[in-house]
Amino acid sequence: MTETIPEVYRELVSRLSLHQKVRLLTGASEFALYGEPAIGLVPMNFSDGPTGVRGAGFTNQTASSLLPNATVISGSWDDEIAAEVGEILAAEAERKHVHVVLGPTINLHRSPLGGRLFEAYSEDPLLTGRTAVAYVRAMQARAIGACLKHLVGNESETMRNFESSEIDEKTLRETYLLPFEMAVDDAHAWTMMCGYNDVNGTRASEHDEIQNQIVKGEWGWDGVIMSDWYAAKTTGPAIEGGLDLVMPGPDGPWRRQLEHDVHAGLVPESAVDAALARILLLASRVGALQSGGSSVRHWPGDVTAPDAPERRAALRRIASRGMVLLKNDGVLPLNAGDTVAAIGRPVVDTVTMGGGSSKVTRPYSVSLEQGLTAELGDRVAIVDGWDIRNHPTTSRGTILDPETGTPGFRLALHVGDEMVHSMLVTDPEAHFKWVIADPDRAHLADQGAVPIDEVVLEAVVGDDVPAGRMRVGGVGAGSWRIRAGEQEVHENLELLAADPGEAVIVPPRFEQGIQVTPGMRIRAVIGRPKRDMRKELLDDSRFGLTDIAHLLDTTTTGVAGLVLAPVRESRDEVIERAIEAAKRADVAIVAVGLTDEQETESRDKETLRLPQGQDALVEAVAKVAKKTVVIVNAGTPVLTPWRDEVDAILVVGLPGQEGGDAITDVLVGHAEPTGRLVTSWPTDDGASPAWNVTPDENLRVHYGEGSAIGYRGYAEGACEAPAFWFGEGLGFGTWDYRDLTVEDRDGCTLASVTIENTSERDAREVVQVYFEPDANKPVRLVGYRSVPVRAGESVRVDVPLESRVMRVWAGGEWRPLGSGRVIVARGLGDRRLVTRLEK
Ligand code: BGC
Repeated sequence: MTETIPEVYRELVSRLSLHQKVRLLTGASEFALYGEPAIGLVPMNFSDGPTGVRGAGFTNQTASSLLPNATVISGSWDDEIAAEVGEILAAEAERKHVHVVLGPTINLHRSPLGGRLFEAYSEDPLLTGRTAVAYVRAMQARAIGACLKHLVGNESETMRNFESSEIDEKTLRETYLLPFEMAVDDAHAWTMMCGYNDVNGTRASEHDEIQNQIVKGEWGWDGVIMSDWYAAKTTGPAIEGGLDLVMPGPDGPWRRQLEHDVHAGLVPESAVDAALARILLLASRVGALQSGGSSVRHWPGDVTAPDAPERRAALRRIASRGMVLLKNDGVLPLNAGDTVAAIGRPVVDTVTMGGGSSKVTRPYSVSLEQGLTAELGDRVAIVDGWDIRNHPTTSRGTILDPETGTPGFRLALHVGDEMVHSMLVTDPEAHFKWVIADPDRAHLADQGAVPIDEVVLEAVVGDDVPAGRMRVGGVGAGSWRIRAGEQEVHENLELLAADPGEAVIVPPRFEQGIQVTPGMRIRAVIGRPKRDMRKELLDDSRFGLTDIAHLLDTTTTGVAGLVLAPVRESRDEVIERAIEAAKRADVAIVAVGLTDEQETESRDKETLRLPQGQDALVEAVAKVAKKTVVIVNAGTPVLTPWRDEVDAILVVGLPGQEGGDAITDVLVGHAEPTGRLVTSWPTDDGASPAWNVTPDENLRVHYGEGSAIGYRGYAEGACEAPAFWFGEGLGFGTWDYRDLTVEDRDGCTLASVTIENTSERDAREVVQVYFEPDANKPVRLVGYRSVPVRAGESVRVDVPLESRVMRVWAGGEWRPLGSGRVIVARGLGDRRLVTRLEK
């Protein structure tokens, strides 16, 4: 499909030898490409990801602004908020000299068990697509490339490198491809990333039908498709299947093999040329090409720091705009003078981001304790909850680097008796390479990797840590020996999964109790993992041989982290303290939530129940408090068995670095929580139109519910109605709806409705329009608009109905949906007006 790429780039390609060309089609390192002086190409830098621009590595990066997670952004149902996010990320990219930011993630919330939903926008393709369009447009307006990911059918994480998402063509086009199509048509995204998964039995990275025929062919798209990290497995099938770029590098399946295959006549050179022409077009768009009429960008010297006051103010406002008030029996906003008991671990340790490749090093983060204390002073009493993590992490300052006294630990790599590398690790864990002493891998030494025999971690216990019993432990596969004072702890941590991502993103962990004193020295020695993955994987016939070879390459990436954390508290004692504080206060606020153990890339959830028995804390407090407000600190649905026993429920998502201040703004009424749910919340495990995320014995995940995921399936009665519907959210206004009309105007179908803010405060409403076709179910969201309305005033709101949702794929083409009912609703559980649309 080279014809869509201007001649100027094809001409530049023709100046290079095959060797030079092929080199440019694989990354030069983890997050950068090669340059080529012969044609004025400078290296392009990439960085994750949707909620912050981390930089060129996985860990130990300089600070980046941490934005609220994706569901808080889409939760605003407001294109202007999504655009502001795109713009902030572009500014961060400029500050970090990054040309392409690897996001947005526009896979859908199919099953609420999906571990990575926090990174994606919604269960609805229109809300997802529109949020992506606004974000991409704003980002690319500053000549920073966006990357739509992951093409396509990557809705769950279990066995993501091996599973096949089985999706019929109608569902694929109408639902899962739609956000990609919108972001191509309306925002012209410059890159996409293919998924790890297969689609209908063909690897996403080799999917000719999706990548070539639909995306590049039918949609006429001229961007670059890169592989997800280590997802590319083959030469010919991948490059001829439409993949343009293998990431990361410098290793990978293309390099020498692709050159060989072209020489041998197995792969046409025209496929190499076509991919490279697209990469050069991208380079010209992001300012990495100094030829053919393009010029190289100059990074601005004058940049906004990640903790600058204006950035803080913006992130605080954006966070509250996406928070969702699910219930409010008049308790919020708090009355002036109310005394408050704030209870629960997320009060003191507010979770601000999910786990996996979207993580960043934040400049700081505001906990709810800090936010409430700054606002209410001594009118708030704080009661820390029990540990809600299954495995603890190390709080800053608990361990210090023995050499410099800086918070963190020292990591040293040893070859035999010699220490070959030493570094301070300030993140909770570090990534490094276990390189096997193998002549074939000698070239890796050029990238700073060496055959490591042992990894040594050293730290001293911080001065402020009280003497007593604590948990010491390690993160990462290997045979562990930890010495703390006179005590010694041993453990062999095995790589449990056949997924290279899992080895790095959710590594195995352990911890054990020991006695510590401030200043005590801790030394951990990690030997190579003992388990022979090679044998186990070869024995498992489900994985093809190429997959195994690939796995063996990538499992050389190691992770090491040192843990020192308090021992678990007694839940009964916490509940006792909570009850005492709740009885004394006018309002009890209980914060519950998930952590990056549940909301993470690489692993799905097994239940939506809050971890570590947090429901018990809510129930105990609700029984005694005058008023109980529950704050849910999670990006995705959780079970709410106590919902009838509490007075208010506020979902704050993973609110980013300004989290605690933004939540406080909402609690006291400085800001309205204008969010609406982006995913329906089931009443129980299993009570969702799509639930299972575990592939069957043939490694297949069947999307058997078709397009009827989330609210669409609930509306059809696929299972018990949800506890809270997609689109639900009260805000602080109260609303009257009247006079719904539908008409065609200037080639567009428009629903118009009058809404009146019957409350006493200025507020914002999200007008949601659904369409229920007479034939071709399911019901679907077809338009929405977020509008501010002054107290007591009425406005007429026009909502254009999206034609790309009002069509059906039948007999190999798009057809109109036909007549049906237009429903205006505040989530389908609260339908306000209905009329007919005849077509
Ligand atoms: C993720 C991608 C991410 C990449 C680079 C992969 O594990 O699936 O979304 O961009 O890593 O960090």
